[in-house]
Amino acid sequence: MSAYEDEQVARGLIVRTARSLFTRGLTHGSTGNLSVRLADGALLLTPTGSSLGTLTETGLSRTDVHGRHLDGPRPTKEAFLHAAFYRARPAAHAVVHLHSTHAAAVSCLAVPDTGDVLPPLTAYYAMRVGRLPLLPYHAPGDPALEPLAEHTARTHHAVLLANHGPVVAGTSLEQAADAIEELEETAKLHLLLQGHTTRPLTPEQAAALAPPTA
Ligand code: ZN
Repeated sequence: MSAYEDEQVARGLIVRTARSLFTRGLTHGSTGNLSVRLADGALLLTPTGSSLGTLTETGLSRTDVHGRHLDGPRPTKEAFLHAAFYRARPAAHAVVHLHSTHAAAVSCLAVPDTGDVLPPLTAYYAMRVGRLPLLPYHAPGDPALEPLAEHTARTHHAVLLANHGPVVAGTSLEQAADAIEELEETAKLHLLLQGHTTRPLTPEQAAALAPPTA
């Protein structure tokens, strides 16, 4: 899929997708943010302090690919994360970040291997997410997270921010939303299976389904 050519269509898509995520409890309060890349290279993002349940098509923000505010209300304070993903991934045309409960819970676990923090429990997870690195905790607004996110996003379209939540890029907003929902479901399964002997997909089975890295 190419960049979003029609800005009005993109605005409607962000509002509908955000409302769907919010009403199904995939993020709470004023957490979570969505963006798409427009054909002129600008990013269309959810504004700061907004609930994903009550966005309007005229109330979205535009920034450049460095997160600099162009017009509309001020963008989400996490706009720098979105911008880092778009710079790292030329084929990405949408980014979704949520504080979804089970993924946020996994982001608080002490794990031995931060390179991939969820097992490939199901084929859909292996297809839509693949590997999930955990980026170390950063306080809100810490600029050190931006270069780290950009570096990791060059080889991963999904990352988990420690003690925080997931960020997922896609070639379309539908694809990014599908992937982050799959991530949330697998995080839930992973927690349900704690203490049970589990058989995830084998490395070969997961590799046969893995999405492209770049
Ligand atoms: Zn966040």
